Amino acid sequence: MEVLLLPGDGIGPEITAVTRNVLEALDRSFSLGLQFSREDVGFASLEKHGATITPELIERARKADLTILGPVDTAHYPPAEQGGINPSAALRINLDLYANVRPSKVFEGLPALARNMDLVIVRENTEGFYADRTMYAGTGEVMPTPDLALAMRKVTRQGSYRVSAFAARLAAKRRGHLTIVHKANVLKLSDGLFLSEAEKAAAEQGGLTVREEHVDAMASLLVRTPDAFDVIVTTNMFGDILSNEAAELAGGLGLSGSLNVGDKNAIAQASHGSAPDIAGKNIANPVSLLLSTVLLLDWKGAETGRSDLQQAANRLDKAIAEMLKNPDTRTSDLAGALSCSDFGSILVEKLSDVCRDSID
Ligand code: NAD
Repeated sequence: MEVLLLPGDGIGPEITAVTRNVLEALDRSFSLGLQFSREDVGFASLEKHGATITPELIERARKADLTILGPVDTAHYPPAEQGGINPSAALRINLDLYANVRPSKVFEGLPALARNMDLVIVRENTEGFYADRTMYAGTGEVMPTPDLALAMRKVTRQGSYRVSAFAARLAAKRRGHLTIVHKANVLKLSDGLFLSEAEKAAAEQGGLTVREEHVDAMASLLVRTPDAFDVIVTTNMFGDILSNEAAELAGGLGLSGSLNVGDKNAIAQASHGSAPDIAGKNIANPVSLLLSTVLLLDWKGAETGRSDLQQAANRLDKAIAEMLKNPDTRTSDLAGALSCSDFGSILVEKLSDVCRDSID
């Protein structure tokens, strides 16, 4: 089973190295049969190939069993004509990764604004307001005069249905609650279309408690009653904003995993950026990319019927929670003393213990 590692920019190489060590430990304990390959993406690719991502690499990711993408420093890329392509967007569009899965869960022993929270936001990932990736040609933004800028939002029946059906299936596997978030009272046509397709998908799934909220109300409700939610499905930009809000309530962006999923492929990706301010200092927290890897292993296990992958995901999830519970095994962003690499080494040890316990 091929694991394709794409370290990316800034702190990407540091947190990807930890992720690889952890996967190698799981591979040893669970005999997963993983084979690793590493390819440049971002500035390293720009230097070598003249573009931050190449068509060849997109095809590699399409064929790889497990792809892990580090954060990319898109804000500092040159224009697309000079090779500055957003690798994350290119992979999401080309591999049609239409659902962005963003869990937010409070960890035992870690300070968090929310007291109790265990929810997943499923964000539509290929449409909406994201002007650089929603059109066949050109972008969704135009500037007809120097004083007028227009942005178009794309909402399709098929795109709304498939992401909602995905969220409904996920809710059925969890606590059976689905919240549809929209603004159909104002965006009557576009969010109206999303809402009607989400309602249809939820009804077809059956057995769910379905709730609807306007996005502005939802922003407040996440703070007031975070424990009231299980799976939330919404359009691209609303999901982007709400998932960061939920991550902060649960303890911070560095603690939240993210998986981009389509019908055939999935890519694990940290939910934070490339953190250029701390790159190369070995102080980054690798937990977000590790939790994304948990989601990826679990997804692949479910897709292929391989329970060993799901067991490995479960073990890793538990070992990360153990690390975070103890103030002595946290990185500096969480007021701990561990470097990024030391966090990884202790996690590998702990993982071996947890794996040994499970085998005994
Ligand atoms: P950022 O998430 O990179 O950093 C924000 C703050 O959080 C910084 O102080 C940083 O040091 C800290 N931080 C982030 N991740 C951390 C970690 N794992 N451990 C410890 N501290 C961490 O956001 P930004 O500075 O706005 O963006 C930097 C670049 O990343 C930009 O080019 C942006 O476009 C890009 N970006 C990429 C992604 C992605 O690849 N998925 C997501 C968001 C932003």
